[in-house]
Amino acid sequence: MTHSRPRALVWFRRDLRLCDHAALHAALAAGFDPVPVYIHAPDEEAPWAPGAASRWWLHHSLSALDRELARVGSGLCVRAGETAVEIDRLIEDCEARAIYWSRLYDPLIVRRDSLLKDRLRARGLLVHSVPGNVFHEPWEVRNGSDDPYRVFTPYWRNAGGRLNNELPLPAPADLPAQPCTGIEIDTLALLPTLPWDLGFSDWEPGERGAQRALDSFAQNALEDYASARDRPDQHGTSRLSPHLHFGEISVRQIRQQLVGSAGPGVRVLAEPYLRELGWRDFSHQLLFHFPHSSELPLQPKFEHFPWAQVEPAKLGAWQRGRTGIPIVDAGMRELWNTGWMHNRVRMIVASFLTKNLRYHWLEGARWFWDTLLDADLPNNTQGWQWSAGSGADAAPYFRIFNPVAQGERFDPTGAYVRRFVPELAHLPAKAIHQPWSVGGVRGYPAPIVDLKQSRDQALAAYAQMRALS
Ligand code: FAD
Repeated sequence: MTHSRPRALVWFRRDLRLCDHAALHAALAAGFDPVPVYIHAPDEEAPWAPGAASRWWLHHSLSALDRELARVGSGLCVRAGETAVEIDRLIEDCEARAIYWSRLYDPLIVRRDSLLKDRLRARGLLVHSVPGNVFHEPWEVRNGSDDPYRVFTPYWRNAGGRLNNELPLPAPADLPAQPCTGIEIDTLALLPTLPWDLGFSDWEPGERGAQRALDSFAQNALEDYASARDRPDQHGTSRLSPHLHFGEISVRQIRQQLVGSAGPGVRVLAEPYLRELGWRDFSHQLLFHFPHSSELPLQPKFEHFPWAQVEPAKLGAWQRGRTGIPIVDAGMRELWNTGWMHNRVRMIVASFLTKNLRYHWLEGARWFWDTLLDADLPNNTQGWQWSAGSGADAAPYFRIFNPVAQGERFDPTGAYVRRFVPELAHLPAKAIHQPWSVGGVRGYPAPIVDLKQSRDQALAAYAQMRALS
């Protein structure tokens, strides 16, 4: 394609794909030659600028997108610096008349983008944003009193019933050459300097990897998802979370592939999975409507909660999987080694940190933020607030997970613990979740807290908070 039409920037952010890309599609449909750009401005998301694991993913995902764009004749122009300044430069460099982007809903980004939109429009530029990677935008689903939902079940009853059957948009077959020069992705220095990412080799960031993960899930795990999704010892979930966070696949593509035009049988099969994607939408709308919740409890009474003072050695033991509680340690080592942790185990380690150790949930949220490949502000905030009991739709605080019982129930043979805590691999299933029952194992720590005593203390702290509020 030669340059004959006016140009529009297509500003890629967390929509690093070409299929079902509504912004790209809209720019083409309006008669523009799209100029794909990415602007690296992590400070604008502080204090939740991408953590170390996310940066690793971002490096590879940007490279994959650049390759996909090159395949259709274009390329990704990467710049770094203050977004507003870089956009002005890009507009000038390529004489763009318009800018297109997919919306994001994290509070700081919403603020930045609306300021930018007003400023660019005031200068006469066409600014067009399209819905982001959710089934429903955060303001679209409201309860009978026209307020945002705070409880998931009624939210999903309403939102889940309104999913439409729109087909995903195809990827463009041909794009004009990239007219702008940018910097090399390597210049962003997103990759670690120490090789702690060796365990990430199973992941394939980028649109193709996302599609492969979805295909594999649809073929091998969808059928048993409802029962297997709680089992960390099985490959029962989709592992699409980092792909979804970076927008390498859209929820519409997923729904279309899993349900499509199929009959009610398939729809029933896919329902538990779509419900989890519903949790993702729900988290987005919670953070959008309660923007303080990434730092402050959604239930104000938790402002009075008597969190324990952090002992660095104990926090370090939790972070590195040396608490002496096997399922907790397996989860934390899975996270450290692979950049991901199974959802059931995320709940267990979060309960252990916020209830048995009684450390503020932000201690955990920040560690997850740095180590998770799928670190996502709405989901991480919601997951931690839910686990701590301070969320809108949280498990009651007094429901404290017993990590031994959880391990025995969801990792009944101990296969998950054996995989990540090799010191315990020789133990039989009946002892693996409580090695102290066989007198402990040399080289593996004794529990850093007494589970029963710390549970009682947590309940007393909860009673104290209730008395104060
Ligand atoms: P699947 O079971 O295959 O689910 C499909 C998709 O649905 C996921 O990829 C995810 O996008 C969404 N989803 C599933 N469960 C949830 C949930 N409980 N809440 C919101 N969305 C969900 N998820 C993140 O993506 N990023 C995070 O930073 C994050 N932090 C968490 C912190 C804690 C303390 C807890 C308890 C949960 C957190 N989750 C987070 C939610 C959940 O654990 C992961 O989304 C899930 O484990 C990802 O694996 P999967 O893709 O195989 O999930």
